[in-house]
Amino acid sequence: MPRVLTTCIYCGCGCGLYLVSDGKKLIGAYPSRNHPVSRGSLCVKGWNSYEFSNDLNRLTVPLIKKGGKFIQASWDEALGLIAEKFRGYRDKHGPDSLAFLSSAKTTNEENFLMMKLARAVFKTNNVDHCARLCHASTVVGLAATFGSGAMTNSINEFEDAEVILITGSDTTAQHPLIGSRIVNAVKDRGAKLIVIDPREIELAKYAAVHARQKNGTDVAWINGLINVIISEGLQDKKFIEERTEGFEALKDLVKEYTPEYVENITSIPKEKLVEIARIYAKAAKAMIVYSMGITQHTTGVDNVKSLANLAMVTGHIGFSSTGVNPLRGQNNVQGSCDTGALPNLFSGYQAVADEALRKKFETVWGVQELPSKPGLTVTEIMSAAGKGAVKGLYIMGENPVISDPDSNHVRDCLEKCEFLVVQDIFLTDTAEYADVVLPSASFAEKDGTFTNTERRVERIRKVIEPPGEAKADWQILCEVAKKMGYQKMDYNHPSEIMDEIAGLTPIYAGISYERLDPYGIQWPCPAKDHPGTPVLHKEKFTRGKGAFAPRPYIPPAEPTDKEYNFVLSTGRVYWHWHTRTMTNRTSTLERESPEAYVEMNIEDAKELGIRDNQIVKVSSRRGTISVKTKLGHKVVKGSLFIPFHFREAAANVLTICAVDPIAKIPEYKVCAVKVEKI
Ligand code: SF4
Repeated sequence: MPRVLTTCIYCGCGCGLYLVSDGKKLIGAYPSRNHPVSRGSLCVKGWNSYEFSNDLNRLTVPLIKKGGKFIQASWDEALGLIAEKFRGYRDKHGPDSLAFLSSAKTTNEENFLMMKLARAVFKTNNVDHCARLCHASTVVGLAATFGSGAMTNSINEFEDAEVILITGSDTTAQHPLIGSRIVNAVKDRGAKLIVIDPREIELAKYAAVHARQKNGTDVAWINGLINVIISEGLQDKKFIEERTEGFEALKDLVKEYTPEYVENITSIPKEKLVEIARIYAKAAKAMIVYSMGITQHTTGVDNVKSLANLAMVTGHIGFSSTGVNPLRGQNNVQGSCDTGALPNLFSGYQAVADEALRKKFETVWGVQELPSKPGLTVTEIMSAAGKGAVKGLYIMGENPVISDPDSNHVRDCLEKCEFLVVQDIFLTDTAEYADVVLPSASFAEKDGTFTNTERRVERIRKVIEPPGEAKADWQILCEVAKKMGYQKMDYNHPSEIMDEIAGLTPIYAGISYERLDPYGIQWPCPAKDHPGTPVLHKEKFTRGKGAFAPRPYIPPAEPTDKEYNFVLSTGRVYWHWHTRTMTNRTSTLERESPEAYVEMNIEDAKELGIRDNQIVKVSSRRGTISVKTKLGHKVVKGSLFIPFHFREAAANVLTICAVDPIAKIPEYKVCAVKVEKI
């Protein structure tokens, strides 16, 4: 049977796996033994990653909505309509009446082309993608403090850490292969694990200390740790002196955050805070691991900056098994950011506001006057579509009806959007609102690259043909550009797009398809003979000196009150991925996790007379869902947790669209809700 080495479509671990086909269909998947991340293992999603591509409900032909119904159309007809409408809006209402949502599920090459289409062809910077919803705070926060918004270390380095501090990441559920490295580090090598998480996540079982902070109080406990470290003289004076700037301001700010003060805000007992500070500061090699529990707040950037402060105060950055490690969620969310699917940045985090950089892109793309004003973000695009400011919206491989906060608002905006194009592999909840639907190829049906959470750019390889008339996303984008009369988006193969990316993007400059075989290269890779970079900020930070960024504690946007008396947090489960469009078409995953639930503390349930497995109504100020209870002690009293994957009880009906003022990331992790018996 033909087998092809490729990269898993699900999480940011980026495991290497073989897909097996019978020539027409995929019939299996198994791990690569030699791949540095998978090393002969996959999680259950990876083992079953072949199934959804074969699903009979795949989109196979373009569709145009006529009289409220989707009618089969030819490619020429569908692309012609898109070009006509988008050209019309651009000419009548200006380029910013258009917006483009790119996708962390698609390849680097496709994200690069989406931003090229938006910027070079339509002259708007209104291009963004779902990193806005997961790690926009990381991009901003780590760029400001270190100069580079990415994992500072590599996945295998977890095994040699002496201390691992994990916060806001249910790692075994969301990044299972990294979760297992961390468990190995504890069980086999005696690493000390510190878990700071309001929920009793799986890794808490292995923790030397588990502190359960109140949701949304992260800046307070991080400042508290720094307070203890400085008061006990545990800071790394040499590192601070030689490699950083701005320490005195941080020292002044954290004076207020005594263990007692922090306990009042966070509920973390003061003794525990002191214990954690000592364990972390005294370690020779300590790694911070975080994910969306840190970033998805109105203070997401402050949270990230505060973690960077903590690492720099102790000198725990810039060495092997020592650093700050944001775990990026989707398979290619790192790469989508790297390749410029962001409203203010070209590929390689080069600012659109910089004239010299614009000139560089204009020369290669053969255009003039690329837009200099940063465009709208995901949530701003959606609201603008609802208000009529954005008239033509193009969504590639995203499902905002389920993934964005305040779903009812999103539905309303999409309903009001004048012309919506959705390009996807299935008719998603979002595609239902489209005027034109374009069928695209799955990861097994095209070539390209993903960049995993440790900055490893790695190949995906075509195994089978796409179904029906479906085409790779990069091909579709090129055809739209051609319909618009733009000639410089004409490629025979994605390797040519990567060559263009390398030519324009210093951190990818040394990358080419030949060099990526077999297991990829970690950026920065500035030259064709550069081996790639497993550890960032070794001799100096990307920005030169590390910049301390003191931040005060600010409470979440929506406090609880008498009526909405529970704090809701949302997240993921081990068995499913994102909006479940792929995992719900995978029999094993659906069998293990077929429906939504709300985790509730058993004491709260007793007080309300609610039983386990009982359907209850959960409401916020934005909407109501009905969902089954799962009682226990996984969440503390007064808190609830609902996985966001399930359209039948969509948690994002409840979440709030309050955003971080800089990163514009929504506060998925805290909103006020109430629970009622039905
Ligand atoms: Fe895929 Fe992530 Fe599982 Fe690896 S850990 S197999 S990348 S879902």
